Amino acid sequence: MRAVFFALVVLAPALAQAESKTLPSLKNDVFEGRVINRGVPRPQALSISRKLYLNDCKAGAGCVVTKTSFRNDSSLTNRSSIPNLSNGQTTTLQGYTWGDDHWNQVVDCVRETFAPFDIEIVTDAPTGNHHEVMVAGTAEELAYSDAGGVAPFIDCGATADNMLVFVFANQTNDVKYLCGAIAHEAGHAWGLSHSLDADDPMTYLDLGSSKRWQNFDAQCGEESPRQCECDDVGGTNSSSKENSFKYLRTQFGMISTLADTTIELDRPSEGQFVRSSFPISARYESPLELNSGSIATDGQTFLQIPEENLLFAWASPELPAGPHTLTISVVDEGDRTAMKTVNVNVLASCAGGAACASGTVCFEELCQPLTDGAGGLGSTCTNNFDCISGACASDGAQSLCSGSCEAGSSCPDGFECLSSNLCWPEAGGGCSATGGDGSMLLLLALGGLA
Ligand SMILES: [Zn+2]
Repeated sequence: MRAVFFALVVLAPALAQAESKTLPSLKNDVFEGRVINRGVPRPQALSISRKLYLNDCKAGAGCVVTKTSFRNDSSLTNRSSIPNLSNGQTTTLQGYTWGDDHWNQVVDCVRETFAPFDIEIVTDAPTGNHHEVMVAGTAEELAYSDAGGVAPFIDCGATADNMLVFVFANQTNDVKYLCGAIAHEAGHAWGLSHSLDADDPMTYLDLGSSKRWQNFDAQCGEESPRQCECDDVGGTNSSSKENSFKYLRTQFGMISTLADTTIELDRPSEGQFVRSSFPISARYESPLELNSGSIATDGQTFLQIPEENLLFAWASPELPAGPHTLTISVVDEGDRTAMKTVNVNVLASCAGGAACASGTVCFEELCQPLTDGAGGLGSTCTNNFDCISGACASDGAQSLCSGSCEAGSSCPDGFECLSSNLCWPEAGGGCSATGGDGSMLLLLALGGLA
């Protein structure tokens, strides 16, 4: 009987978008150099608002924006240095055109993107200090050259309050693109430059794919490496790399209500008897992406879990008979760790007629324990994973670990090979009340997992 093991999928792989659409390009020089280094000292403590207002400009007849001079941008007065107008002139951004359901999807995505941090995403106009993304209209309506979004100039560090940035939402209905662009422009407002990490919102690469703040020292640049505008962004100790996650964490802190990261081992279970190489499956649960992880036996790491791993299932290395510990540890994007250890017992081999210790019986070339519940032949079980053989069978009255056999042979003492070609405790032996020839004996369906 060959055991079949099911890996648990903990994260759904991103599905490729089948629809084709033309995304507006962010690859425009209007995005470059928005964060500039004038030597202004970075503040030691956050002195700006933690509130980010997503304004769909649907109240009234769009958002009226007044042109102002550089560094006089304000979300409180809807003044912006960005439009190509004379100071004091106004222009109107038309309201978000894709409907409420679509808007809610974008807002949810932005909230998920900023979830690790103590940043409040709101959609009702705040009365006090706040940063604002106008998610509306087109670049043309802002009297601006072609772009997907734009942020005003800012010094290094989260130095300016009430920043007003734009994402020209009516140019595309791609939710992931809009979500990433909002995070991107807000990132500029708080002092982040462009990154070559295609998974990070600050990138120009692979626009329209899901973006999350990456705890990674990423190379600055649009399409090729360059120096960052500011040094040591996010503690990189480098002038050419920035770590967006650590930077935002330093500026705003992690939110106190963030759910913990946990790792659970589904296989093997504590104290389980296992073969020399055994399946391992685990569940990673966290509001944050996995950053790194490892699995060790007896303290020796044998596998680094790749960041992109979506299927938490592996096989252990071959281990000698006897007790061993298995430890899985993970680190999430917030540098939070979780760990789980279980003890397992690797079964001795009785291949080639080797003797088994008392209290065990040789079956399928393994010395299987006769202790009930331990997974050996005749042990009670509820699913196939409970059994060393991988075969939990039921006669309708009870479920016991079984295993395949040929009539008249190959079952150990105390067991008989029934007509269903499964080993079963001999009638009258032990506590089994099974009668007849067991013709009703059925293997449990695979996949009967709790
Ligand atoms: Zn940009």
